[in-house]
Amino acid sequence: MNDMTGVSFLPLGGTGEIGMNLNLYRQGETWLAVDCGIGFSGNDTPEAEIILPDPVFIAERRDRLAGLVVTHAHEDHLGAIAHLWPQLGCPVYVTPFAAAVLRRKLGEAGLLQQVPIHVIAPGSAFTVGPFDLRFVSVTHSVPESQSLVLRTPQGIIVHTGDWKIDPDPQVGPPTDLETFAELGREGVLAMVCDSTNVRTEGPSASEADVRREMTRLIASLEGRIAVTCFASNVARVETLAMAAKAAGRRVAVVGRSLRNLEVAARECGYLSDVPHFLSEQDANSIPDNQILLIVTGSQGEPRSALSRIAADTHPNIALGEGDTVIYSSRMIPGNEQAVIQVQDSLTRRGVHVITDKDHLVHVSGHATGGDVRKLYDLVRPRFLIPVHGEWRHLTANAAIAQELNIEPVLLEDGDILDIRADGVEIGDTAPTGRLVLDGGRILPMNGGVLSARRRMLFNGMVLGSFAVDEEGYLIGDPKVSAPGLLDADDPETQRVTEEFGNALDEIPDELRENDATFREAAKTALRRALGRKLQKRPLVDVHLLRV
Ligand SMILES: [Zn+2]
Repeated sequence: MNDMTGVSFLPLGGTGEIGMNLNLYRQGETWLAVDCGIGFSGNDTPEAEIILPDPVFIAERRDRLAGLVVTHAHEDHLGAIAHLWPQLGCPVYVTPFAAAVLRRKLGEAGLLQQVPIHVIAPGSAFTVGPFDLRFVSVTHSVPESQSLVLRTPQGIIVHTGDWKIDPDPQVGPPTDLETFAELGREGVLAMVCDSTNVRTEGPSASEADVRREMTRLIASLEGRIAVTCFASNVARVETLAMAAKAAGRRVAVVGRSLRNLEVAARECGYLSDVPHFLSEQDANSIPDNQILLIVTGSQGEPRSALSRIAADTHPNIALGEGDTVIYSSRMIPGNEQAVIQVQDSLTRRGVHVITDKDHLVHVSGHATGGDVRKLYDLVRPRFLIPVHGEWRHLTANAAIAQELNIEPVLLEDGDILDIRADGVEIGDTAPTGRLVLDGGRILPMNGGVLSARRRMLFNGMVLGSFAVDEEGYLIGDPKVSAPGLLDADDPETQRVTEEFGNALDEIPDELRENDATFREAAKTALRRALGRKLQKRPLVDVHLLRV
């Protein structure tokens, strides 16, 4: 194989339980990144809210990274750019709507002037270095979602991104099945396809069905109505605005992400038939029967508007007896407990809670098994690489391909798949990992800081402090505190402190001269003083003050 015509695909995030998408394609010596998203942590990683894919493999090759193409404006596809771009340093290719969302994030990160952004019209062709690319419009739960077609020396590769089939999506064009059929006639070598919802049989439900049901439902309700949905789902926000209008209600948005998304959407020409939304302050001057609130917090996020309303700690909005909250969203796995807690608090205040189990108030933005079958029939790729889902979703997607005589190729993050006109093969493996956004810093998930945090979280921490003179002899009494483990007035704290003092006295003179060796010896003394009574292995540290 001539290396200049060699082609590879490498997923670096997106084939696990936390879906954060970072995909790489290689053509010859050059790499192309597709999407760069964050993941939200579930119950397994309580110390981390936001998780990023470790880009070390491509960061080491950044001089050969031609660009980053973004398929759509969801957090799990573009949310990591503002954090990881300094390690990538490449131009970014996005549709106008994704550009509006991205620019705000880059602005907040102080990177707006540095990142070269190329705005590409939906459905159009473009090149990035040696890559011959084309966007194909698909329907998803955010405007301007795109599949990416790569014309490579080995053949055509179709990267679907997130998609579904909806003949009547309300906002934006339906999935461009005609172009997919044309590609199929031309011959597609490999397809990399979204697996999220393939285990649902039959075709997707349509946003038009949600709009009909929502219009009927909202017209039938009295009192205040609050609806929570994803801010980026512009079609849904429009659905809510239309339903409100039909019921003679004005719309107010509550929550920063909704306000930001409204700005981005209107900037790009969306929501043009919908009057500007009121602010939450304005909402209070309107009678209950004439207002519809769109609020953030569908996933039970503790600081979100809906969580605060449920706890009655929101500065502007209150709901109670006779009011209704509609969840126009799905529960992302891992968030169930948080969501149910909010719903419980709302119910306790007398609020009527409606979810997609009660009425058709939500449809998924991801392709069902039926949708996938239809697309595979049109495109007929030779190889199918399922991505974006947990293993059971990937294997279900692979099974559908197999039924249609398409050869599935299951990859894990880090597998480098060499794609040739005559076959595919997993060659090398790239390093993968997870990073955590901790306050303003990016830390490795399994690095020292977070390992210590986890240990503190489950075993508490013990800190011993003591002062010594120049020769290293104790001045006064040592102090021991054990936040998260022992209360200050616990007799056990007293015992540990006394034993720590005794153990310090026994440290040999030669270890007292140097601060580092003294500290290590003191840590051992503290561990010994703790003993086994607590049956815990807390993080142990000492502060030595030489005066
Ligand atoms: Zn998406």
